Amino acid sequence: MRQFWKAVATPLAILVAGIFTAAPSHAADEARGLDIYWVDVEGGAATLMVTPEGETILVDTGNPGRRDAGRIFKVATEVVRARQIDHLVVTHYHRDHFGGAADLAALMPIRSLYDNGEFAGMPEKPDAAYGALRCDRRVVINPGDKLDLRRDKASDGPKLEIRCLATRQQIAKPAGDNGEGAAAANETVCKRHAAKDRDGSDNANSVVLLVSYGDFRFFDAGDLTWNVEHKLVCPENLVGKVDVYQTTHHGLEASNNPVVLSSLEPTVAIMNNGARKGCDGQTVATLRETKSLLAVYQLHKNVRDGQAALNVDDEYIANAAEKCDGNYVRLRVAADGKSYTVSIPANGHERSFKTKGN
Ligand SMILES: [Zn+2]
Repeated sequence: MRQFWKAVATPLAILVAGIFTAAPSHAADEARGLDIYWVDVEGGAATLMVTPEGETILVDTGNPGRRDAGRIFKVATEVVRARQIDHLVVTHYHRDHFGGAADLAALMPIRSLYDNGEFAGMPEKPDAAYGALRCDRRVVINPGDKLDLRRDKASDGPKLEIRCLATRQQIAKPAGDNGEGAAAANETVCKRHAAKDRDGSDNANSVVLLVSYGDFRFFDAGDLTWNVEHKLVCPENLVGKVDVYQTTHHGLEASNNPVVLSSLEPTVAIMNNGARKGCDGQTVATLRETKSLLAVYQLHKNVRDGQAALNVDDEYIANAAEKCDGNYVRLRVAADGKSYTVSIPANGHERSFKTKGN
């Protein structure tokens, strides 16, 4: 199968190969861990994960139109060498998250689509193109659900799990080995919480995912907003500690409640901001106060007037120019889950970190 794919990568071969579910995306002889790509969708979200088995999980799809779907397709097919998106999770119904899904589905097969479905009191609805997009199955995701990954059934190597911690403002109970576990009381941190105005938009309903591969843990909360973020960690920390924090809501200050950062204690933060969206002053201040953070990455340089000082060093920014090439950030977790390397292939940056373990 693998040989066949390499030998005849014609459009016909793609069609034929698409019938099979195995997706060879890694060299066969190299032990691989979990890879994560932050595709640049210029202030939207598109986080692509690839399991050691070559299964692909995409969280959000950027904006409508050819640009963002095209960039996701390019990374998925040319970099990852995947033929399909096995699992697509749409965190909420804003265009910078669901918008590229229909365009992407026209470019490559989408197998399972997870979202909030239709629910009582939903403040916003996706468009007709999203409702009609082609995929094998649609699944309404609920707090506590785990994606049905092939890795779950693998007997060797670190365990991989992608779990929905919260969605539609409902929070899952912490999961131990038996499905129940004790969460840590978090009184000192929670005293610092100051509520913000209620967010009536669909941001508050965002799907929150915790990805774990062995000891490695990655947190992606979509555009979850301040007061619901608080519920994840107060009065008890239901998330635990993480290694990598996708800066929520593109680094906007309606999100990234300091009680979350203080509770999760991430080592690395990756901000999916645009040149003129996200990377807000209050968020940057919170990140700078978070002592556990060793590195912060930005998809874009913040080019707004008078805000140059909010940026990290150029080396940690994937796209320096506003009119950009759509460079991505890549994170590669080692096969044993004990370390990971973040790189920006476009500028040659690469830095490795130890997984903290819990
Ligand atoms: Zn957004």
